[in-house]
This record gives sequence, structure tokens and C-alpha cells, in this order.
Amino acid sequence: MIVCTRRIEFDAGHRLINHESKCKLLHGHRYALEASFQAKELDQVGRIIDFGVIRDILGKWIDDNFDHNTILNLIDKKLGEEITKITGQKIYYMNCNPTAENIANHLLKEICPKLFANHHVECVAIKLYETPNCYVYVER
Ligand SMILES: [Zn+2]
Repeated sequence: MIVCTRRIEFDAGHRLINHESKCKLLHGHRYALEASFQAKELDQVGRIIDFGVIRDILGKWIDDNFDHNTILNLIDKKLGEEITKITGQKIYYMNCNPTAENIANHLLKEICPKLFANHHVECVAIKLYETPNCYVYVER
């Protein structure tokens, strides 16, 4: 089994509704994402997929949707609308709390399958660091 992994970092804000402590407050992280891919067979060059293609496709999506943005639970729309009113930023809403677990799962199950549908590869795992010491790992 061969797996290739690309690391992509981004900055984003979030808050967790019903969190027992400080994470219920709006705050930010330097996230580090490691997206892993597999293919049925290697291409003519001998790759699963070019690392640069992962950067171009997934990195662009991250840049357009997550980087320097705020990721909120959809039920937090009132807060999001206030932020949008003041900053003009387009909040990224999820239908669940934007925990590292839910963000990683969303990327693995919903975003990557769409982004790489035409590339003969499958995103098989996402590792998402919320801090240098804490990460979640989700796989197919
Ligand atoms: Zn946090």
C-alpha cells in the first residue's frame, strides 16, 4: 500500500457552542492539515498524484474557504452575520460544531471526493493539527 501526503497550513477562527471552557469563545488557530491519497495504480511517472496538484486543488480550496476566515456552526449564524457586516468576510458554516474532528471529517467525506473526482485518486485520511500538540486523524 502506497500513500502520499501533502501538508497544508492555514489560519482560521472558530468557536465551539456548548464547550465547557474557553473554546466557547471566538478564537483562532494555526491549523496544519495533512491530506493522504491513494490510487489503484501509479501514473506513468510513478506517482499517486503530483504533490503540486494536491497543493493547487486542495490548497486553493483551503485558501478560498478556510484561510483567514471564521468557521462557525450554522446555529451561530447571528454571530457570523455580525462579523460579515463589519469585516465583509464570507463565514464558512458547518452543520455541526467546527471541532478539529468535524472539520477533518468534512474534508475527508465531502470536500476531497468532489475536488478530486476527476483525478483517479481517493483521499483516504486526514490528519488535522489544531495546535502543535493536538491533532485528530480520520480515515476511510
Ligand atoms: Zn479552538
